[in-house]
Amino acid sequence: MMSDVAVSLPVRLSGPVVRGFGRGSRLLGFPTANIPPEPHEAALSGLPLGVYFGWAAVHGPPPPHGATAHPMAMSVGQNPFFHNEAKTIEVHVLHDFPGDFYGCRLDAVVVGYLRPMRPFASLDELKAAIQADCDHARAALAGRTPPPFPFG
Ligand code: ADP
Ligand code: MG
Repeated sequence: MMSDVAVSLPVRLSGPVVRGFGRGSRLLGFPTANIPPEPHEAALSGLPLGVYFGWAAVHGPPPPHGATAHPMAMSVGQNPFFHNEAKTIEVHVLHDFPGDFYGCRLDAVVVGYLRPMRPFASLDELKAAIQADCDHARAALAGRTPPPFPFG
């Protein structure tokens, strides 16, 4: 049976990479590029909080970043600081960039759902889960052709 999540996908998201709350994702080894969720509220409304996968492209700065589509794992979370519906969009691009790319535009297309949000008992458990998410994303996307980037 096709889940509601599957019916809501694919979802295309785009926006400038903004600063997050610096909650140590880089320390964990999994930096997440945050984009503002407000323009995407309608697209996200059908999606449960959780981890997704797809492709993402970072536009500039000019070489070396280019705008190649890379596999990505993405979390759709809840902003703990505001008691409203605003979700957070955080994209871990499965690519080694030479540095940060705050301010650059990120385009993403979300094609699959991996798992719901859940609490973790320790940092090590969380790291293992994120690593597994990345492995699952890579496996699910292997051999598939990304959509053309950039998209309008
Ligand atoms: P923040 O809380 O500001 O989002 P993070 O620790 O999550 O900080 O780091 C995210 C930043 O790291 C991104 O905004 C981006 O500039 C940079 N970055 C470098 N490599 C990657 C990558 N592979 N995926 C996502 N972001 C990356
Ligand atoms: Mg982040």
